[in-house]
Amino acid sequence: MKSIITQLFIALVIVFSPALVMAAGKLDQADIERAAELRDKALKSDLAYDILESLTTEVGPRMAGTEGDKRAVKWAKNKFKQLGFDKVWTEPVTFPSWDRGVEQAEIISPFPQKVIVTALGNSVGTGNEGVRGEIAHFKTFEDLQAAERGAVGGKIVFISHKMKKTRDGRSYGKAVAARSRGASVAGEKGAKAIVIRSIGTDHDRLPHTGNMGYAEGVRKIPAAALSNPDADLLLNQLKRGSVEFGLTLTSSPGELLTTYNVIGEITGRESPEEVVVIGGHLDSWDLGTGAVDDGAGVAITMAAAKLISEGKRPRRTIRVVLWGNEEQGLWGAKAYAKAHKDEMDKHITGAESDFGAGLIWSFDWTSVNENEPLIDQMAQLLKPLGVKKGNPKATSGPDLWPLRGLGMSTFALRQDGTDYFDLHHTANDTLDKVNPEHLKQNVAVYSVFAYAVAEVTGDFGRGIKY
Ligand SMILES: [Zn+2]
Repeated sequence: MKSIITQLFIALVIVFSPALVMAAGKLDQADIERAAELRDKALKSDLAYDILESLTTEVGPRMAGTEGDKRAVKWAKNKFKQLGFDKVWTEPVTFPSWDRGVEQAEIISPFPQKVIVTALGNSVGTGNEGVRGEIAHFKTFEDLQAAERGAVGGKIVFISHKMKKTRDGRSYGKAVAARSRGASVAGEKGAKAIVIRSIGTDHDRLPHTGNMGYAEGVRKIPAAALSNPDADLLLNQLKRGSVEFGLTLTSSPGELLTTYNVIGEITGRESPEEVVVIGGHLDSWDLGTGAVDDGAGVAITMAAAKLISEGKRPRRTIRVVLWGNEEQGLWGAKAYAKAHKDEMDKHITGAESDFGAGLIWSFDWTSVNENEPLIDQMAQLLKPLGVKKGNPKATSGPDLWPLRGLGMSTFALRQDGTDYFDLHHTANDTLDKVNPEHLKQNVAVYSVFAYAVAEVTGDFGRGIKY
């Protein structure tokens, strides 16, 4: 049996082991004043809007693998340098590319009309001659899953599920299964093709693109999204009997290509190896200029780090990662996680801005430690911005998912997404949709957040699963 002294010694080693995570500290009075100063300065700054205007004007659409994407990488490197970031570099991201090609559709009978479609990202094409077939209509993805092969085989599947407007975007999670998995289920049951109602909340005659995938071993069928008004039109024709539909997509998978995560750092003054990660994704879909998705996130986080850099450097490093190719499958996020997996103990926490440019209304954090005092300080600082304290079960933007998987804690600075899905992945995602005042509020919140977590000592927890 071990002596009392030995047991005490072991207990002390466990308590003070550096491998154990220390709870986050608190901001002192000077830090609080500095954070408030940053917040108020951000509210008067046009910097984020200027960055966003520059990105949408000088680059515009920047789907991974396109000329626009290459220009975006150059633009981002130059912008970081212009803004005086301490370190700027790129990291390679390899991915299978995809070409959109021609996209056309029509109702052939009973009442012939052209309809507006767009190919879903990663979809195979129909060939130049197109496909035609009877529509097999399902109200939801689940209805398609439950359908007999006989109801689907040889037909063109149509899923008409309509997404609802919500502030937190929760309706997207349910609706998006039709886009991401519909083709696999329809293909497995013998369908020729699938068209879905756009995953969006607008009434514009503009379809919403977005990524889809094919389950292993399933026959790949072409997949497209109809604009919302055209989905209504198709439903009205279906009320009158069976509908013959024609779809032509010349989309095709391309070669393996390389793009880049573009990274800019404000180096910490005391613990430069400890990193706080903020950012947005640099790529966009090809239809709009990617102002809202995710030029806004790029601009908000670049501007916040730049404002912080104008004063004394925080204790830790603030790393702004502009993620490459998020839209086609988180390729940049996965490449970063792979390249940095051995430095995860130095990745303290992070947040991604990838939900448009609406006002931030709440913030969530990760907590296993006693970091409540800091959270309360942040809540006080953010209160004048209309941001309320949320809950200790923060999710994150998609590009931080791989890092969360490796144990990094995250914060969620939650934007109002009520109108986000009106524009999401459409040709309507352009600069005029961004309210410059809302952008300033976002920069103010990100400045307070990034400064606070970069300035305090201690940690925010590791490997938390909820
Ligand atoms: Zn996005």
